[in-house]
Amino acid sequence: MLIENLIKETVELQGFRVLTVTKANDGLEAELAPDGRYAPRCSGCGRRARYRDTRPARRFRHVPLWGISVHLVYAPRRVICECCGGVHIEVLPWVSGKRQFTRALATASVTRISTALAMSAMRTSPYPTTALSI
Ligand SMILES: [Zn+2]
Repeated sequence: MLIENLIKETVELQGFRVLTVTKANDGLEAELAPDGRYAPRCSGCGRRARYRDTRPARRFRHVPLWGISVHLVYAPRRVICECCGGVHIEVLPWVSGKRQFTRALATASVTRISTALAMSAMRTSPYPTTALSI
């Protein structure tokens, strides 16, 4: 239950819920499912759209917890959008486009790299106050 709450805190999950968290060969796998209270949204225009079918499950690498890798598993739905006209994949708020990692992981990685660069600059700069003001 604690791990499910941590995942909910690190991922935008409106319209979805964490079904289960299980141990996989390479870490933890959190299986996501649609929340029946929300209609799926079209990835083309962001508006609510009618359910068509479900695609095979995809795996998204997420922020590791205590050094243990975490993956989100979700079978995206396709929708029929009357606004765009056509069939589109639903909006998955935790991922950008067809990427295989979550936005939270991308943000965490950028933060870690920025911190490492700032620390490196402070170590190598003869003017440490200049590095701190970056
Ligand atoms: Zn649309």
